[in-house]
Order: sequence, then structure tokens, then C-alpha cells
Amino acid sequence: MTDLPRPEMGEPYLLTPGPLTTSAAVKHAMLRDWGSWDGAFRAVTAEIRAELVAMAGGGDLECVPMQGSGSFSVEAMLGSFVPRDGKVLVLSNGAYGMRIATTLGYLGRAYTLIDKGDYLPPRGAEVAQALADDPAITHVVVVHCETSSGILNPLDEIATAVQKAGRKLLIDSMSAFGAIPVDVPFAALVSSANKCIEGVPGFGFIIAPRAELEEARGRSHSLSLDVHAQWAHMNKTGQWRFTPPTHVVVAFQAALRAHKAEGGVAGRGARYTRNRDVMVAGMRELGFVPLLNDRWLSPIIVTFFCPADPAFDFGRFYDLMKDKGFIIYPGKLTKVDSFRIGCIGQMDEPVMRAVVMAAKETLAELGVGSAAPPAAALQEQAKLT
Ligand SMILES: *Cc1c(COP(=O)(O)O)cnc(C)c1O
Repeated sequence: MTDLPRPEMGEPYLLTPGPLTTSAAVKHAMLRDWGSWDGAFRAVTAEIRAELVAMAGGGDLECVPMQGSGSFSVEAMLGSFVPRDGKVLVLSNGAYGMRIATTLGYLGRAYTLIDKGDYLPPRGAEVAQALADDPAITHVVVVHCETSSGILNPLDEIATAVQKAGRKLLIDSMSAFGAIPVDVPFAALVSSANKCIEGVPGFGFIIAPRAELEEARGRSHSLSLDVHAQWAHMNKTGQWRFTPPTHVVVAFQAALRAHKAEGGVAGRGARYTRNRDVMVAGMRELGFVPLLNDRWLSPIIVTFFCPADPAFDFGRFYDLMKDKGFIIYPGKLTKVDSFRIGCIGQMDEPVMRAVVMAAKETLAELGVGSAAPPAAALQEQAKLT
């Protein structure tokens, strides 16, 4: 890669799952003002919609961009695709699954939850059972990569169970889309600008078959989050219904072009996988243990247990890593202390090796002799197969 950020100018690498480290080209694209009504900006919107549809597999799919962070698009999807008398089965194994349940509560949509705790994957068989037990369920929502642990949920077996039971699948592919293929049928999928496409934050997008969008008319509880209304308006006028984040949108166009040049989803996924493999191997050598075994490890973000050594303090570890140019991420597990290192953004293998080197130096500075986790963490881990 030629287009790395410049840590020597005081800009640290963001080893976080979005906002993430973006290229100079993406940042430069934001140095111009655009009229939202103007034809040149409408052409940008048309290009990104078409490219996202192609990335998702084309066919009868349509793309509807939506202002706001990713959660705004999740809320828009839920409110627009689940009928008011529908019922949702939420598959939760982390914070984003729980946020979906909370959102459905706000929307007044009936739901039931399969709660797998912090890191166990929802499996096809239990989804099939839940659907057989409750014929009222119309939709199943799954988080593709649950970013709170970094687990890559088994989308294939879940989609098969949903399809066999004749229900509809909604996918929160926020942190996976663009790097991990989605080759299962869905009623709607959602992602955002600042994850694997490597844009800056400011909008999300919903991808759905045309027939599902047509059915969504009049369902939304919300004026601004009405996916059908946004779609219909964009098709008619080429414009966003309300003020678009213009600079973010043109930055995203630059990010999409770079994504294509890198080889699309396959190329992007391959780089992130190499990032993860180099980083995890190096961290293991230092004695760190990842929460998940290889079967469930995503190329997006990896959770590590904090070392048992009493000299380890996450706050100090974080600050010393930041001094070396790397911003890491605290963990979200409820039972044991952990932290996370992201693999996505404008970073490659040399950067990931430098991250490991920085971790090694930081352990020495803290006086941590061993990065091995406490026994309790390993007991937690033994529950995962
Ligand atoms: C990032 C993310 C979201 C959206 O979060 P925002 O902070 O609203 O952008 C939703 N789901 C998953 C799985 C995510 O990784």
C-alpha cells in the first residue's frame, strides 16, 4: 500500500472497528464543497448506490443510503421491513444484538430473543427449533460479525434455517460487508460508510430486493428513517430527501474506488485476514490468548484476555500503546477483562507487526512478565468449541 496515514505527523493508527484509519485520498476528497441538488453530486450518489448493489450481488437488489451512524440505518431497516403486526426473532451474542432488541422495543415491534451471552454463536439448529416453536415469528435478525467480541456468526446455517421455515432474514452486516461475502438470501441488509469500505462516518445504507422495498411503503414509524420514502425520492429526483452529508458521500466514493482497485470483497477480505493472522500470531508469541478459537475468529477485530499479571493495567497499556502510535479498543466481555485489536482500515502486515512490537515494548515498560490470562478466562474459553 502506498497510501498510509502519517503517524509521524501525530496521527495514530486506529485499531478500532470504525471510525478507522482512512487513506489520504479519502481525506482529500473532503476538501471540496458540493451542492446537494447539483447534478455532479447526484451522479456521486448514483455511482455509490450502483456500486453497493453490485458488491451485494446485483440482481433485483436496490441500495438506499441513509443519513446518520450505522444504528440509524439499523433502526430504519427494522422500522421499515418489519410490519407493525410482525414478530422478530433476534439472535444476540453481544452488544449489537442487544441494541437490536432495544430498538425493537422503542419501535413497539414484538420480538423474542435467543441470547447466547458474550461470545457463543447462535446455531442453525436452535434457530430452526425457535421458528418451529413460534409460528408468529415473521423475521429473524442476525448480526453478521458481532463486533463486541469479533465473532463471525454462522450466517449460512442461520439463513438456511430461516429459508426452510419460510421466514425473512434481516442482516446487520455493519462490520463485515465489503470484506466478507454475503451469499445468502435476505429481506434486507445494513452496513455503513466507516467500516470495511473504509470511508468516514456519516451515513449507512440498506440493501434490499425491490419487492421488499415496495412492501415497506407506509410502515415506518419515523419520517426521517423511512427507507421506502428515501428510496422512492432518490429514484425520482436523484437526491437525498434531507440534507446529505456531502463531504462524507464524496469521501465514500473515493473509498469505493479504492475498494474496487484492491480486488473488491475478495481483495479487501484477504488483506484483513493477513492483518489478523500476522497480529494474532505475534500476540500469541507474547503470551496473549485470544478469546475465540480459529473457527469463529473474524478478520475484523480480535478480543484478547488481559494478562493475569498484577502489573498489567489496561489504562496504562492503552496510553503507552497510543504513545507508540496505536489506538486500541477496550473489551466488552462481562465476566473477564479483555481488550480488542481491530484489523480493518488502511493498515497492512508491516503495520500489524509494528503493533505487536509496540505491545511487547509496552509489556516490558509495565513490568509484566507474562501475558498469560487468568485461569478463570481459560475456563470461560473452554465453553467454546
Ligand atoms: C458499528 C456497528 C453498528 C453501528 O454502530 P454505530 O455506532 O451506530 O455506527 C451496528 N452493528 C454492528 C455489528 C457494528 O459493528
